[in-house]
Amino acid sequence: MNFTSAPEVESKTRKEYLRQWHLRNKERRLKARQARYQNDPQKENARSKAWAAKNKDKCRGYNKAYRAKHRSKIQQNWSNYYARNKARILSQKKGYNQSFYAANREIIRVKHSVYYRKNAERLRAQARTHRLKNLEKRQRQCRAWHATKGKLPEFVVRKKQSNSKLYYRNKPNILARHRNWRKLNRDKCRLYKMKRRALEKKALVNLAGINAFVSSVLSKAKAQCSYCNEWIPSSEVHFDHIVPLSKGGEHSAANLCVSCQTCNLRKGRTLPEIWMRIPKGIVKLLNFPPRIRPKRSFTR
Ligand SMILES: [Zn+2]
Repeated sequence: MNFTSAPEVESKTRKEYLRQWHLRNKERRLKARQARYQNDPQKENARSKAWAAKNKDKCRGYNKAYRAKHRSKIQQNWSNYYARNKARILSQKKGYNQSFYAANREIIRVKHSVYYRKNAERLRAQARTHRLKNLEKRQRQCRAWHATKGKLPEFVVRKKQSNSKLYYRNKPNILARHRNWRKLNRDKCRLYKMKRRALEKKALVNLAGINAFVSSVLSKAKAQCSYCNEWIPSSEVHFDHIVPLSKGGEHSAANLCVSCQTCNLRKGRTLPEIWMRIPKGIVKLLNFPPRIRPKRSFTR
C-alpha cells in the first residue's frame, strides 16, 4: 500500500469537515459576531483590522471576487450616487481644477508646451485630419448658426459700419501703409505666402525650422542652387519643395531647398527622383520641362 499521500488526504478531509461545520453554523456564527460587535465595537473593529493586515492577499482575493460577482450592482450604485450628486460633484471638480491650475499654472504651461513640441507633427496631422474629416459638418454648423442666431448685436453692426466708412475714407493711406510694411518685411511676406500656398494645396504644414532656414539663407549675400550648383545672389533665391506640394510633399524645413529661378521653374511639379536623372545641360538645351512663366510677386 502506498501511504505517501495520507497526510494530504487527511488535511483535505479536515478542511472539508471544517467547511461543512462553518456552513452548518453560519447563522449562529454571524449572530455571535454581531453580539460581539454590539458589546465592544472598537475591539471587534480592531480585531478585523488586525486580521486584514495579517491576511492581505486573502482580503484582496475576497474583494476581487466580490467585485467580479456584483459588478453591475456596484456600477449601478455608483451611477445612482453620481446622478443624485451630479451638481455638487461637478462644481467640486471645477473648483478643484481651477485652484489646481492657479497653483500650478507655470508648470502646466511648460509641460503642455514640451508635450506639444515633442509631438508637434502627430498633433498637427491629427488636427488636420480632424479638420478635413469634419469640414462639411463645420460648414453646416456655421451656416445654421448664421441662419438662426447669427444676428450681430446693434452696437457691433454700428461699429462695423463706422469702421468700413473709416476704411473707405482712408483707403489710399491704409493701402500705402500696407505696401510699405510689405516692402520693409519682404522675408516675412515670403514666408506667409509660402505657408498660404501650402495650405491652399492642403499640404501638411510644419513651420518648425522654416523660419531659421529661410533667414539663414537670406542673411548671406550669395547662395548655391542645390540642383545646378550655381551661385546666385540671395535676393534672387527661390525656395523649392523637393517633393512638390501637389505630389503630397510637406511644407517643412526638411522638404525645402535653395534653388535658382531657372531650376525651380523648370523642375515645376517633377518628382525629385525623375528630376535628378535628367542631365542639367540637356535640361537647358531642350528647355524641359517647359519653362513656366513666373507669377507676379506678392510684394509689388
Ligand atoms: Zn539651378
